[in-house]
Amino acid sequence: MENILELVSTNLSRRGFICRTAADGQEAVLAALGIIGSGSVGIGGSLSVKEIGLAEELKKRGNAVYWHWTDGAAAKEQASRAQYYVCSANAVTQSGIIFLTDGSGNRISALSYGPENAVLIIGKNKIVADEREAFMRIRSAECAGANARRLGLHTPCAEFGQCDDCTSPERICSVTAYFERPSKGLKNTYVILVDRPLGL
Ligand code: SF4
Repeated sequence: MENILELVSTNLSRRGFICRTAADGQEAVLAALGIIGSGSVGIGGSLSVKEIGLAEELKKRGNAVYWHWTDGAAAKEQASRAQYYVCSANAVTQSGIIFLTDGSGNRISALSYGPENAVLIIGKNKIVADEREAFMRIRSAECAGANARRLGLHTPCAEFGQCDDCTSPERICSVTAYFERPSKGLKNTYVILVDRPLGL
């Protein structure tokens, strides 16, 4: 395990997040299954969660899972009322501040108030030096640009690999929040830091 993961984990824990590290996606799945137990699970839009196959493992085990990527738009609303909400983040600073950017604010809303607990699965590619780098990462070709291309959108970041703070109706980064501490609107916010690149 690299030192940087331990450093971020320590800083997240100091801030009140319940943090674990995992060597790879498989370990991250096992950690998430252990945290969640038999609880119901809502999942936000997340390539990281998709890549590690967590939804399939939860369903196989009998957990109720609500994920709009596989279960239709109504699942978005149900997800916000589940006992556990699972998603990733767009960036986490070395000092343990977690950044998310949404088009509709569904992940940000769930991590602020709604479900009882949240579980964030964050690959090491999301670790940045500081807040300035976090904002840069969010608007980068590798993050927003790649995500917009994946969705077939025609934003400047997707087409030219550069953000111009666009006014496109297809803009995907409308709401940004950073969590310096876990929200008091939830019982627990868990973070699983994975020693592999995951998601965008
Ligand atoms: S503001 Fe527009 S161009 Fe910039 S990252 Fe967001 S969607 Fe892309």
